[in-house]
Amino acid sequence: MAAAAALALLVTRGGGVPRARALGSLRRLHTVYQTVELPETHQMLRQTCRDFAEKELMPLAAELDREHRFPAEQVKKMGSLGLLAVEVPEQFKGAGLDYLAYSIAVEEISRGCASTGVIASVNNSLYLGPILKFGSEEQKHKWISPFTSGDKIGCFALSEPGNGSDAGAASTVARLDGDEWVLNGTKAWITNAWDASATVVFATTDKSLKHKQTLDGGRIGIASQALGIAQAALDCAVDYAEKRMAFGSPITKLQAIQFKLADMAVALESARLLTWRAAMLKDNGKPFTKEAAMAKLAASEAATNIAHQAIQILGGMGYVTEMPAERHYRDARITEIYEGTSEIQRLVIAGQLLKAYRS
Ligand SMILES: Cc1cc2nc3c(=O)[nH]c(=O)nc-3n(C[C@H](O)[C@H](O)[C@H](O)COP(=O)(O)OP(=O)(O)OC[C@H]3O[C@@H](n4cnc5c(N)ncnc54)[C@H](O)[C@@H]3O)c2cc1C
Repeated sequence: MAAAAALALLVTRGGGVPRARALGSLRRLHTVYQTVELPETHQMLRQTCRDFAEKELMPLAAELDREHRFPAEQVKKMGSLGLLAVEVPEQFKGAGLDYLAYSIAVEEISRGCASTGVIASVNNSLYLGPILKFGSEEQKHKWISPFTSGDKIGCFALSEPGNGSDAGAASTVARLDGDEWVLNGTKAWITNAWDASATVVFATTDKSLKHKQTLDGGRIGIASQALGIAQAALDCAVDYAEKRMAFGSPITKLQAIQFKLADMAVALESARLLTWRAAMLKDNGKPFTKEAAMAKLAASEAATNIAHQAIQILGGMGYVTEMPAERHYRDARITEIYEGTSEIQRLVIAGQLLKAYRS
């Protein structure tokens, strides 16, 4: 880690069980897909996730939202499918796939239930990701392997009550006391925190030094979550519009509705391509900071706009909780805030753009 920062892995609860995994035999892929089709492995994964989301998540999503309930049983099932550790090598009990696969999995899960999607995203890229990147071999065995099956999940504690966008201003301090790190500070907004068994905590060893940490991989995860929400909103709008009659015909006959649907589809597909490109750059070991920020910005704004239009297409039914459109809008809206607000993504993109021009 950089001089000013210490990454502390903090255990809060114990226990762990081995598991079976349906995707475990698929090999790790690093190839950029260059045709119009996804590679077969990714198509298979997408179908597995889609089936899981339609059977296990869609029927439950409204209830989970209404009751603010953690989907423990579904998290366990995601673990048994290898969806909580998609990019983790098989030696640490992960699925051993690549980041494109991870993006596809998070999109499909989020199409079924955005809350379950973000639980998977946090465990994959924010909790396991940094340990995979920075952890020692021993730490990986201890803090990754038990977090792949769904028996335990992790979380990622960067934000504090006094700072979010300005992550460098974090005031939690880490002090070495003998051979133990003592942390002192307050964290806020931490997804999975109530149910997590371990946390990746960000703390500084010297408050006077500013530092930067990057969230590029996590941004691809949230971009993928946004794609799933956007797809769900578009599905909902088309389904309703095909059945809703006005002036003697289904409203899909109206040009105004067709124009909306066309714009929604273009925004979604463009954002998906940006997201997959960022994931493939990461898989190929290329810089992807700008591309991850572009993907996050495009996908989250597309999701918000698509869900907004879905509400409009549903008319009054778009506004009520009996239909999913208003939930898709709320789910979409948060993707413009966490893992860096849209304003922060624009700053990252502009910074990278100007750097490239100036060099
Ligand atoms: C549901 C939820 C889950 C979350 N999960 C996690 C988690 O798991 N782990 C974690 O660490 N954090 C998490 N967060 C925190 C999240 O990452 C922050 O809320 C986010 O980064 C924004 O920070 P903030 O809320 O402090 O807003 P602020 O930083 O106070 O920003 C307020 C406004 O000012 C704008 N702004 C700030 N700085 C600039 C700038 N330099 N230029 C232009 N505009 C700027 C912002 O874009 C925003 O519009 C979560 C938040 C929510 C709501």
